[in-house]
Amino acid sequence: MEIEFEQLIELQRLDYEIRQISLSLKKIPSQLKEIDAQINSHIQKVEQAKENLSQNQKKRRDMEAQVQDTKEKILKYKRQLNTVRTNKEYASLLKEIDTSQEKVDSMEEQILQEMLKSDEIKEEIKETEQKAEQEKEKLNLEKEKIQKEKSKMEKKHQELLQERKNLVPKIPSDQLNLYNTISNKKNGIALSPVKGEFCSMCHMRIRPQVLNELKEGNKLILCENCGRILYWLKKSA
Ligand SMILES: [Zn+2]
Repeated sequence: MEIEFEQLIELQRLDYEIRQISLSLKKIPSQLKEIDAQINSHIQKVEQAKENLSQNQKKRRDMEAQVQDTKEKILKYKRQLNTVRTNKEYASLLKEIDTSQEKVDSMEEQILQEMLKSDEIKEEIKETEQKAEQEKEKLNLEKEKIQKEKSKMEKKHQELLQERKNLVPKIPSDQLNLYNTISNKKNGIALSPVKGEFCSMCHMRIRPQVLNELKEGNKLILCENCGRILYWLKKSA
């Protein structure tokens, strides 16, 4: 019986390429998702900075309202100074005025601090926005590149499948069945070339008798160790 080694080797090459492309294609959705997550994290940073500014503004408004209240209280105390009758009441009011004025001074100092902080936050918003824009542009380009790569791989995948479809009828069915059975068991690698005196897949030494039979190429011989179909790699190959 004629063994179609060349066709089997070609089939193995096609299957290997088909498998590699399928694996690469499978990775693409998670690659795209990872890029989207990066884009999102830049957007989040901008959102966070904006949120910080709004907190800062709210804090300032609250303190300004308190300052206003306290100033009004001071005016009220000052008016009362004219009406009190005892020294004790007078002293007590003066103390209230002092305490309230200290509170106003301290809060005005804090408001000033918050204003300085707001300038920093505004600067941060500008920076994070710029950075987000730059990164988004870069990451979107990367996504485009991956999409293009994906289309190319899908096309190649289809071509390889077609080549396989054309090739399969040229291989006798018993040889094809054996190939498929071993391929399924051995992670898609059914064939192993013999290099020197060794099975190149599992590195088992091949017995001299088997080597001779392989060189004749009249029958399918399986590696005694890994069970793959052995073939003699001609010097030129
Ligand atoms: Zn082997």
